[in-house]
Amino acid sequence: MTLSVLDIFKIGIGPSSSHTMGPMNAARRFVLDLIEREQLATTTQVGVQLYGSLALTGRGHCTDLAILLGLEGHSPEGLDPLIVPPTLERIRGSGRLNLAGAREIAFDEPMDVLWHRDQTLPGHSNGMRFTALAADGSLLCREEYYSTGGGFVARADELAAPSAAAPAVVVPYPFDSAAELLDRARGAGLELYELVMANEDAYRERAQTRAALLKIWGVMQACIERGFAAQGMLPGVLKVRRRAPKMHRQLLETTVASPMQAMDWVNAFALAVNEENAAGGRIVTAPTNGAAGIVPAVLTYYRRFEPGASDEGVLRFLLVGAAIGMLYKKNASISGAEMGCQGEVGVACSMAAGGLVAALNGTNSQIENAAEIGMEHNLGLTCDPIAGLVQIPCIERNAMGAVKAINAARLAMRGDGTHKVTLDQVIATMRQTGEDMSSIYKETSQGGLAVNVPEC
Ligand code: SF4
Repeated sequence: MTLSVLDIFKIGIGPSSSHTMGPMNAARRFVLDLIEREQLATTTQVGVQLYGSLALTGRGHCTDLAILLGLEGHSPEGLDPLIVPPTLERIRGSGRLNLAGAREIAFDEPMDVLWHRDQTLPGHSNGMRFTALAADGSLLCREEYYSTGGGFVARADELAAPSAAAPAVVVPYPFDSAAELLDRARGAGLELYELVMANEDAYRERAQTRAALLKIWGVMQACIERGFAAQGMLPGVLKVRRRAPKMHRQLLETTVASPMQAMDWVNAFALAVNEENAAGGRIVTAPTNGAAGIVPAVLTYYRRFEPGASDEGVLRFLLVGAAIGMLYKKNASISGAEMGCQGEVGVACSMAAGGLVAALNGTNSQIENAAEIGMEHNLGLTCDPIAGLVQIPCIERNAMGAVKAINAARLAMRGDGTHKVTLDQVIATMRQTGEDMSSIYKETSQGGLAVNVPEC
């Protein structure tokens, strides 16, 4: 599987990459396929069936609205969050849906979107089935899609044979493991960020890659600013009050210098992003939405508190952080429904730790060491969101993950990169731990905090 940095960092909307962005992408793909097969004009009814984790926690993760928006042809990257409420009001009020923005059909949401909480499709816990019917009730098209984390979507046949679905991009330094990545960098005499950038050159002009990464950084900063400026409660039954705005005000008013002030700021940055995510705001998936606060919080820490920080350092951070994310995506998973939260917050922590060392001009070995530490102390982390909302424990967990990432980077920078547990070993351990983890701790809200804390 060939992955680009821009597959790992994607601009989208909250609250979930696997349960919001993935289903929106799948629904959009389905209607675009109908157009390609020249079946859109004869489609009079569309049915959607949701399975497994999507069915169990999809309502809290806004899967239903994502599906409706996707069927109308919207994509997470292009969607303006402000048009979401009126669009849903129109669809639900009129009982009509504008397929791909081109064909209006009747749509009875309770009958046409079915939630199979007691069933899973064979490929993955996040399964969806879409059907299109003609006026005489005959089947025009049926497809199964899987949302595999981070907004990635695969059709059933693509999931079974990923190499057949992969884009044919030949990069100069392919790598499937951290050991291979380090070897190739050593062999070519490159820093890791240089190697990753050379691979990105196979996708697009270098200036475009730089511009895209700086745009991603801009969206992250804007997200933090919006999170600081917002007020009130987050949506949903938990009635969670936003904490970032007050924390931000308090930090601005602080006159006494404290050695822990930078940590307070890191907490505030992470809370701001994840509160915006919970509110369905514009977000960068890094590598998922639930864990989207860690990379921006650590990057903003770098920019604000590290002497000599620069946009070049931001680019090094994002290139290397993405390469670490690719290793998890290739060799394990970045889906909470497969790995628990270690696959989301743990992976983001690992990416941010390695990315920070790269920004600080650490060595390749120190980067690998930091990324390993970032995951090692998240192993076994379960996913048990209360009421299926990406709020508790998710928001605060990002603050904890960001602080942990900075500590991992600092630990690694104090050494020379030599250490006992390799990044590859910790990724394999995460995968095995995720496979052994009971499904009640894998984004189903059937265990942990989700069953021990009342919802209101
Ligand atoms: S607990 Fe972790 S994996 Fe689960 S929804 Fe929250 S952030 Fe995502």
